Amino acid sequence: MPDATFGCPDLTTFCRLDELGLVVVGQRLEPDRAVLACRVLEADDGTEGWCRRCGCAGRPRDTVTRELAHEPLGRRPTTLLVTIRRYRCTGCGHVWRQDTSRAAEPWARLSRRGLAWALEAIVCQHLSIARVTQGLGVAWNTANDAVLAEGRRVLINDPGRLNGVKVIGVDEHVWRHTRRGDKYVTVIIDLTPVRAGTHPARLLDIIPGRSKAAFKA
Ligand SMILES: [Zn+2]
Repeated sequence: MPDATFGCPDLTTFCRLDELGLVVVGQRLEPDRAVLACRVLEADDGTEGWCRRCGCAGRPRDTVTRELAHEPLGRRPTTLLVTIRRYRCTGCGHVWRQDTSRAAEPWARLSRRGLAWALEAIVCQHLSIARVTQGLGVAWNTANDAVLAEGRRVLINDPGRLNGVKVIGVDEHVWRHTRRGDKYVTVIIDLTPVRAGTHPARLLDIIPGRSKAAFKA
């Protein structure tokens, strides 16, 4: 039986930002995108305000903002504008900022949810990189670089990714049209859950190159 009760409406959980260690504190709805102002949840372990170099207390110094493309909601891009607090150590003067590693990779322009959405869109729903770019509201190269890097990080570096795999699909995509010819990537998809009727396909691997040569390797 599905639970018939409702929780309070909450933008943070609706956008799954609690999973990223963020809280929504404001919204700005523009015609072609939504911007969510966020702040960073303090680390549970209580280490945030303490200097890692000398152990003295830090004093809040100022804030910086970081813009992240999130998954699109309501068919328009969602941009996160994250305010990050910076501390200065009262002992040694060292300056550090709040940890945003749950929200995104260092220097990344996409949130972890944004990246996951992009990977699934390309591989499981066969959306073009142009559509993904539109969905995220970022430049083509930003989306392209982020998706290739994330593909490598979550798939190729995960030794357990082939556990339980019985049926695989191999699919070839033109990744980028260049003057010297097209560049291809081969994606390998776990179709085991599809055949069993339990879940959608799962992405296993993305390999630069065309299917035959890439798959052999
Ligand atoms: Zn210090």
